[in-house]
Amino acid sequence: MDVIEVENFGPAIICPYNKSHLIPAARIQWHLSKCQRQYPNAKIAVCRFNASHHIPQKKLKHHESICPDRVLIERFMYPLGDGGPATSKMEQRKAEYSMPDDASGYQQTVDENWDDMDALPYNPEEYCRNNPIIRKAMHMTRSEKRQFYADERVRITTIRAKREEEENKKK
Ligand SMILES: [Zn+2]
Ligand SMILES: [Zn+2]
Repeated sequence: MDVIEVENFGPAIICPYNKSHLIPAARIQWHLSKCQRQYPNAKIAVCRFNASHHIPQKKLKHHESICPDRVLIERFMYPLGDGGPATSKMEQRKAEYSMPDDASGYQQTVDENWDDMDALPYNPEEYCRNNPIIRKAMHMTRSEKRQFYADERVRITTIRAKREEEENKKK
């Protein structure tokens, strides 16, 4: 799957299904899906990080450990916690406790220190209802999650406004 420069041809890739296929790099994805159908018995696997990486099965493990798209996907996938390629409990836990990218604004809210918090008797349900913490969106589809975080944004804004109002009354 290395890109090679061919004179009078431009960047090209040798097809992993048939070494006599020299494919212009720009056409590789289209060509690979064609050859994949044409050679159903080829011992070629598709990289989990990039569908245009068709790798001989023997080399797949090595490829996936060095795949340039791996870091990108890991950063994108685990925070969403939708069960992506998380292979261990540890990774899943990591996912559950992270925020999706579009909720990055929340992190600040979560870290904020509400001084009176410690004084209150702990009642998880009450706590969740009345405080701007993020309830975790688990077992949801991507669009459900998006809706969840949109709702959460409204809920938190409301709570904060109410708090500010109460603070102002005290003064
Ligand atoms: Zn081919
Ligand atoms: Zn790859």
